[in-house]
Amino acid sequence: MFSQFALHERLLKAVAALNFIEPTPVQLAAIPLALQGKDLRVIAQTGSGKTAAFVLPMLNRLLGDGASSPRMSVRAMILLPTRELAQQTLKEVERFAQFTFLKAGLITGGEDFKVQAAMLRRVDILIGTPGRLIEHANAGNLLLDEVEVLVLDEADRMLDMGFSDDVQRLAELCNAERQTLLFSATSGGAGLREVVGKVLKEPEHLQVNKVNQLNEGTRQQIITADHNHHKERLVDWLLANETYEKAIIFTNTRVQADRLYGKLVAKEYKVFVLHGEKDQKDRKLAIDRLKQGAVKILVATDVAARGLDVDGLDLVINFDMPRSGDEYVHRIGRTGRAGAEGLAISLICHNDWALMSSIERYLKQRFERRNIKDIKGIYQGPKNLKASGKAVGPKKKKIDPKTGKKIVAKKPAAKAPSKRNTINKPKADAPVLVSQDGLAPLKRRTPTAE
Ligand code: AMP
Repeated sequence: MFSQFALHERLLKAVAALNFIEPTPVQLAAIPLALQGKDLRVIAQTGSGKTAAFVLPMLNRLLGDGASSPRMSVRAMILLPTRELAQQTLKEVERFAQFTFLKAGLITGGEDFKVQAAMLRRVDILIGTPGRLIEHANAGNLLLDEVEVLVLDEADRMLDMGFSDDVQRLAELCNAERQTLLFSATSGGAGLREVVGKVLKEPEHLQVNKVNQLNEGTRQQIITADHNHHKERLVDWLLANETYEKAIIFTNTRVQADRLYGKLVAKEYKVFVLHGEKDQKDRKLAIDRLKQGAVKILVATDVAARGLDVDGLDLVINFDMPRSGDEYVHRIGRTGRAGAEGLAISLICHNDWALMSSIERYLKQRFERRNIKDIKGIYQGPKNLKASGKAVGPKKKKIDPKTGKKIVAKKPAAKAPSKRNTINKPKADAPVLVSQDGLAPLKRRTPTAE
């Protein structure tokens, strides 16, 4: 029950109006500590209810005893990596603040700079992406010395996107006595530790969802494929035959996203595509239509879909395998939210297999193997793995149908490298990094196409 928290009655009223009955684990862990004014460093994924875990204590602090009148200064700031995430967080803040006088404003790229500069003087809570906020700071528009609460959400992503210096500078502009709440989906690396060390004061560390714990309601499957054309046919089959409310299909590149989008449009699916080259209007339209249910299918690259929170998203297809275990967790985190059922299907060609099995090791899970009879391909995984479903026992003798004699196979000129080895030891040109939290020797990153 939310009434167990010492929250302002106007906030409890909003929580009740939103039909939030039971707090989620991250809310149970973080809200009481945040209400005591402590700095927090929380590992929790999108879908865990983490937004409310920082928004409610933040609003509570701004409300004080309720007697104070509205002030004309920014008193809280929430930094997020992407525009979409910032927009979603603004909505969430407005929902929780609906019975208060507190005003929130959004500062992200792609919107009018002057309009934003004027708005900066009229809000209590600023929600934005670091790049545009720094531009306002440089233009002298940003006064943050009255900021009492600073939130860094999806901090690992912000740093991955190169915002480390901007985030630290913005934090320095805030009041030194402020409270800082940092949320990330993963434990992050040295960059994140540096930010935690510099920006937070004696933080409490909370880890609600381990990085390798996915939403329990999501089934995870793989389907092997021969090549991209075969994958396109599989996507078509899945979209036509699976039961789902809304689906998202991830590709690793913009080119592949556009190509798949074209194929699906040609098949008369109602579909949108989201990638880094789409402008803000297109992105907003795609997300709004998906939320309203006018469009059921989205093709997207990782950066474009980051932080997307769409109700009823119950099918995730990885057209390409994501390049790291953390990215996989982020993608699959779109589905099976708040206890709902979800299905995640990864399409695996021979060049995806090593990455897929290292992600299995990282997550300490084995994905369900699935075949689609009508369009089953030739590739079924590495030949010498029992898991591939192929026989590993003694080979049958091959008989020449014309002569009736045994066919003797020619010996290969040189010993071919064992395929099993190629799984455990990726090729020299494929960079392999140890997972940042040392959980498993996984992380394999190649530059993203965004
Ligand atoms: P988040 O992880 O903050 O993106 O939240 C995921 C979704 O769960 C959002 O749509 C929230 O509105 C919803 N949510 C968060 N906390 C609760 C709760 N205690 N009860 C019901 N829904 C919740």
